[in-house]
Amino acid sequence: MKFKLHNSLSKRIEEFHSIDKEEVRIYSCGPTVYSYAHIGNMRSFLFADLLQRTLKVVGNYKVKWVMNITDIDDKTIRDSKPENGNWNTEMSEPTNDPLVNLRNFTNFYIDEFIKDIGKVGVLKSDVFLFPKATDHIDEMIELITLIFNNGFAYIADGNVYFNVSKWREYKQYGRLKKIDFENFKKGVRIDADEYDREDVSDFVLWKNKKEGEPFWNFTLNNQELSGRPGWHLECSAMEKKYLDLPFDIHTGGVDLQFPHHEDEIAQSHAGYGIDPTKYWSHCEFLEVEGKKMSKSFGNYFTLRDLEDKGYDTLDIRFAILSQHYRTKYNFTFDGINSASKGRKKVQNFIDELLSDKTGTTSINVIELKHLVYTELAEDLHTPKALAQVFSFVNDYKTSLFDLKSKEDLISFFKELNNIFAVWSFELSKVKIPTEIQQLAEERYKAKVNKDWQLADEIRKQLQSKGYEIKDSKDSYEIIKF
Ligand code: AMP
Ligand code: ZN
Repeated sequence: MKFKLHNSLSKRIEEFHSIDKEEVRIYSCGPTVYSYAHIGNMRSFLFADLLQRTLKVVGNYKVKWVMNITDIDDKTIRDSKPENGNWNTEMSEPTNDPLVNLRNFTNFYIDEFIKDIGKVGVLKSDVFLFPKATDHIDEMIELITLIFNNGFAYIADGNVYFNVSKWREYKQYGRLKKIDFENFKKGVRIDADEYDREDVSDFVLWKNKKEGEPFWNFTLNNQELSGRPGWHLECSAMEKKYLDLPFDIHTGGVDLQFPHHEDEIAQSHAGYGIDPTKYWSHCEFLEVEGKKMSKSFGNYFTLRDLEDKGYDTLDIRFAILSQHYRTKYNFTFDGINSASKGRKKVQNFIDELLSDKTGTTSINVIELKHLVYTELAEDLHTPKALAQVFSFVNDYKTSLFDLKSKEDLISFFKELNNIFAVWSFELSKVKIPTEIQQLAEERYKAKVNKDWQLADEIRKQLQSKGYEIKDSKDSYEIIKF
């Protein structure tokens, strides 16, 4: 099936062609680990997860998925300073070494992040690697040196800047997001990791050492430099190391288009002479009352917050995946509740498929599968794909299907669950019909009363309905076969 994906470079939905025939290489900008991720952040990781799972299931590809961890930037440095009061008792004791502190502080949030994405159905084993920025300082220094030697960087006051004016003479800057260069001030430098389009100027590749902050040393153009890399550099260096250039798809939230991804393109091209990726894929914001969910606005919920309120993390996954990734998701509790109902409706259908006796109606599951996968292959249109699933679930009674149709349907739902990952097929979770439970109970009582004949009769009755009883010392288990 042809897979189509929106590309932020062309601003169109394009037919997807992998570079390598069998394997798709994906890089996702991962979390900045200075605190717990909020569910707005989660949307970007759920989107990347949906993409990689759909490529596997619908596209039949193998996937190599890398997600970096930003463990050094303005925020991680700020919050890992013990005097700023962000350490908690579960972290190891602060030391006098800023780098040790940075690592201990961020390692705590890395572990929490991996637990959190696990709770919303992102499998750690699906991610090839979570490389950390501080483990790749050498690679970043190497890239700065290449950019400098190619004439696109300069040193000023112990910092190294990317020369955007020089770059614009050579290649376009502003490929992902239109930039108004009217206000562009040649040679104006910006040191912050995050800045707006209005502030477009020379961005920092290497920041001069600051008192009480982690630093590394290197020599550039015979000058001794001490300090740490700028934020944008890490992704350019790590994607080159782990995925080769160009790789297939780069993901992130729309806020990363500028400056982060624009700067990534410039760095990669100025240093390695090549664009990082073929497809840039960005998910829209998760919002609260029309405003981006963000730590700085204070309008955020972490997974913990929602778990404390009694929400099931898989309902959160399902709610977010139910919305198309390129439309804004307006977060409300009602939204999570109605996603929960939808998820349960399909779960009940699956439970019945697994436990009900068979009927006579035969259906063509291939057709259903085709309808659902066609929507998923069309730029991951989950709302339309799920609409197909719901209309099927609403229209059919499981008790009508013959055995072959049932088996095919179960296989299909299992396969679909390799994408949505919100349903269960465990036998223990299969709903045993009340009638069967009552019969099993009667048989157990007969057995306890040593009425072997009755116990035997009921066992046969249960077998004819497709259930077996497994006795243990003081109890029994009902097994569907
Ligand atoms: P950060 O931890 O800030 O580096 O962000 C990690 C990812 O979350 C990035 O891909 C961001 O674009 C994304 N992100 C942050 N806030 C939101 C939001 N409200 N909705 C969707 N994605 C977001
Ligand atoms: Zn990045």
